[in-house]
Amino acid sequence: MKDIVPLKAFKDNYIWTLRTATHAAVIDPGEAGPVLEYLAAEGLKLAAVLATHHHADHVGGIAELVRAHPAPVYGPKNEPIETLTHPVSEGDVVSIPELDVRFEVLDIPGHTRAHIAYYGAGALFCGDTLFACGCGRVFEGTPEQMFHSLSKLLALPDATKVYCGHEYTLANMQFARAVEPANAALPVRERATAPCASAACRRCPRHSAKRRPPIPFCAAASPRWSIRPTTTLVRD
Ligand SMILES: [Zn+2]
Repeated sequence: MKDIVPLKAFKDNYIWTLRTATHAAVIDPGEAGPVLEYLAAEGLKLAAVLATHHHADHVGGIAELVRAHPAPVYGPKNEPIETLTHPVSEGDVVSIPELDVRFEVLDIPGHTRAHIAYYGAGALFCGDTLFACGCGRVFEGTPEQMFHSLSKLLALPDATKVYCGHEYTLANMQFARAVEPANAALPVRERATAPCASAACRRCPRHSAKRRPPIPFCAAASPRWSIRPTTTLVRD
């Protein structure tokens, strides 16, 4: 995999940037400014833009970005994103030859009705569906869809690095502790996460399945829970 660099946008959004020495691709540029500054500072050409879903804090910067740096824009084919040049859905493959990388497209509806993820080279870019220690709100899909989408993501190989759309880790951990106060794994993970989830250090929200604690959002199918996914997966 190429270098993967997080750019901060808004209060807690991540714009993930894949880069080589000469080119970059960005995932979910909700605003153009941070990307334009990074491309200029590093002398990089924009090779592609990938969007996971239609929310403005993920796609709002695309128009300005591609005006300055024309590039193909990939995104979910069944969501209203005016700037898309390459609508995609599950079964499609996104190839970015400048970065020598290919991503499978996965349909993961729930947060929005046609949310997609990009999976390749051991990395998963999953927008607002799976966060570090939590999941996104169910805005347009159903809790059942979200459950199946999370199950699909959690079935990926354990070594998969997860790159999510927001830094919500500590709030998610607090919620998990409120739901499962006796879960000894949670405070351990919280202490390990705190230094990197602070506003001053936003470098590693990614986590692999092996290191994933048994948090409630990811455990709906576990024998530990006797309640239905519809009551465990909706966060407010
Ligand atoms: Zn969203």
